[in-house]
Amino acid sequence: MKKSNITKAAAGNKNSGLPDQKNPMIIAGPCSAETPEQLMEVAAELALDPRVDYFRAGIWKPRTTPDSFQGAGIEGLKWLQDVKQQTGLKVATEVGSEKHVEEALKAGIDLLWIGARTVSNPFVIQEIADSLKGVDIPILVKNPLSPDIDLWEGALTRLLRAGVKELGAIHRGFFWLGKSNLRNQPLWHIPLELKNRMPHIPIISDPSHIAGRRSLVPMLANRAIANNFSGLMIEVHTNPENAWSDAAQQLTPNTFFQLMDELFGEKPSPVTSGELLEELRAEVDTMDEMLIWALSSRMELSGKIAQVKKQAGLTALQVARWQEVVDRVKTMGTKSNLDTDFIEIIYNAIHEQSLGLQKSVLADHESVTKKEHNFAL
Ligand code: PEP
Ligand code: MN
Repeated sequence: MKKSNITKAAAGNKNSGLPDQKNPMIIAGPCSAETPEQLMEVAAELALDPRVDYFRAGIWKPRTTPDSFQGAGIEGLKWLQDVKQQTGLKVATEVGSEKHVEEALKAGIDLLWIGARTVSNPFVIQEIADSLKGVDIPILVKNPLSPDIDLWEGALTRLLRAGVKELGAIHRGFFWLGKSNLRNQPLWHIPLELKNRMPHIPIISDPSHIAGRRSLVPMLANRAIANNFSGLMIEVHTNPENAWSDAAQQLTPNTFFQLMDELFGEKPSPVTSGELLEELRAEVDTMDEMLIWALSSRMELSGKIAQVKKQAGLTALQVARWQEVVDRVKTMGTKSNLDTDFIEIIYNAIHEQSLGLQKSVLADHESVTKKEHNFAL
């Protein structure tokens, strides 16, 4: 049976004690530490599986709204210490400030990670980096909420410069406009690009926060392993439906064990073409939602422009402006490997719709004035 172990992994990794693809790091546990009983119950289950390297639980929860559960706070550190003592599991938690680092280190936490919301703030990252000088436990940095690879790389670089040796990254997906059946977009090319830029930084994936729904977690975990990520962080709860945070995405221990067997068991089941299709189609559905959002937002703007044209006594069709639009999108299309004819067909269709809408707004005005002007659609 595969067993990831941070010291064993060190031999094969010249930069850190973190794992590589052959020796993936598995971090599992609830989104939040809720009560001492809940925490111990989940830990007791996970301690049965030697594939679990670290038991995770958030005690300081960076929540989008102030009305959500904010975490147990410092009291939760004691619960994590009890877990460590009673189950032998190594424990991990999220830190979002210098103070958190100080408290977590004092409590003997074995691994720290920095959450997506914190990574977006270079001031805080620098403070955390300074407080980690000379610390030799693994530190993992989640990707920032926005798909900004430089921000992610910048945070990792600050920690490297502070002398953090066991440094790794966590891919948890990116916030994106529009609704989707995934909570966060995986945008796989970003972590893969980070791997190119920082080849010695292992990247693990967090399918729970990408999926947002437990039914999609196995497929995303499969995809991460197929993409040679160095491990997984997965949220597990004994009563996921009633979890105090991220209830929709946490797995029961049994589902988690099954997933581990599928991925790393005696007979691992590789991603089937059916599963891969399902995951890729979920991503395509998201792109379609974005396209529809972009088209309808564009039409709305076009309607507003028609109002302005009406007031200014202009016609719907503004040839020079339209030519400018077409040239611009063709150039962008070429840079993005899109066929020029394809772009032309799409933009002709968009233009036709947009003109139709503008003409209806201008209807009673059109026959009166036919002035061409440059501030058009
Ligand atoms: C978490 O791991 O529970 C968490 C808050 O994650 P993220 O920072 O990825 O949103
Ligand atoms: Mn969570």
